[in-house]
Amino acid sequence: MDAFSKCRLSPDIEALVASGHYPFYLPVEERLDDGEVVVDGRRVLMAGSNDYLALSNDPRVKAAGIDALRRLGAGNSGSRALNGTLELHRTLEAELAAFLGHEAAMVVSTGYQANLALSPLFGPRDLLLADRYIHASLIESARLGQAELRRYRHNDVAQLGRLLEGADPEAGRLILTEGMFSVTGDLADLPAITGLAARHGARVILDSAHDAGLLGAGGRGAAEHHGARVDVQTVTFSKCFGTIGGAVAGPRRVIDYLRHCARSALFSASLPAACTAAELAALGVVRAEPERRRRVLAAAESLRSGLAALGLPVAPGFAPTVPLVVGDPELCCRLWSELLREGVLANAMLPPSVPEGRALIRLSVTAAHTQAAVARLLDAVATAAERLGLVPAAVGGGRC
Ligand code: PMP
Repeated sequence: MDAFSKCRLSPDIEALVASGHYPFYLPVEERLDDGEVVVDGRRVLMAGSNDYLALSNDPRVKAAGIDALRRLGAGNSGSRALNGTLELHRTLEAELAAFLGHEAAMVVSTGYQANLALSPLFGPRDLLLADRYIHASLIESARLGQAELRRYRHNDVAQLGRLLEGADPEAGRLILTEGMFSVTGDLADLPAITGLAARHGARVILDSAHDAGLLGAGGRGAAEHHGARVDVQTVTFSKCFGTIGGAVAGPRRVIDYLRHCARSALFSASLPAACTAAELAALGVVRAEPERRRRVLAAAESLRSGLAALGLPVAPGFAPTVPLVVGDPELCCRLWSELLREGVLANAMLPPSVPEGRALIRLSVTAAHTQAAVARLLDAVATAAERLGLVPAAVGGGRC
């Protein structure tokens, strides 16, 4: 049998392509300053970006990247361990560790790789307890590791407590969660989780991809927001910081260990100078301009209350991402198409990214979205939902 015979699209995806409502891989031609992009020659409101603080197009962030690109070249042509460590990486690691309140940090080339880099912490005699909604990269990391993996129901700290009670006291215990969940936009109950960890001698590993830069008085993320301390934290530069790259932060001995064992860091080329310098500049803006956080959170609040006023079921919260659960994947893609027709580019999320029967449109706002832009977004949602005959009761089913 030809090994490539498996390489065909599933009938569902084929039907989606044929229907003209395929919502993936849409090329963006230009990115404008005010939260808009050009798609197919047309300006549309970008309501699917994780650039929450609108830093990807910030002149200071871009200038820092351009300057580093000129001085140090387009790439480093090697791994951190061999020839690819720049002085800039070390500066960024020191700044990130200080910002996040950890002893040390290790910079890698994506947030995905930062999560994969955790896998050496999941040893054969360990029990890894993970929230059921953790990101794909954390699941991959758990699979690469050797620990026994048990998943607890999303944010169900009672179940987490029972799993810890029943754990072999000889096993190293680790708890893995996101700070602000990427699809649902809700927060992990970190006070309860860190309390349980302290009681059971477990370590807490937090993925702060969506909350670092956004939450907490200093923008340090969900842990700061809750006044909780976690042992190890991963961050990505591709959301609040507007560029790409990632880091693991934690105790120095953990970071030194990962530098020598984490295969995603050891065997992959290091983060280019332009992205490293852009991240350093973005970190400076995050520290200096807390009003950006307030702006995006205010836009998110207006979006949530506007959707609720339209009669759509919106879970409480304050994340800049707001899921609208549609349920049926085909209907979800038609809603995505109608939104695009109305000048809004949103995210369609289908199984297996979300549980079966919980296809959803994820709307997100950034600090670039004015109240007028949010009003436009709401108008588009109202028109698109009405055109599809989605009476409020038909769009829903609670949180995914
Ligand atoms: N963790 C979470 C929770 C994420 O949502 C993502 C990206 N969607 C990542 C990690 C990976 O980050 P990156 O895209 O920067 O590789």
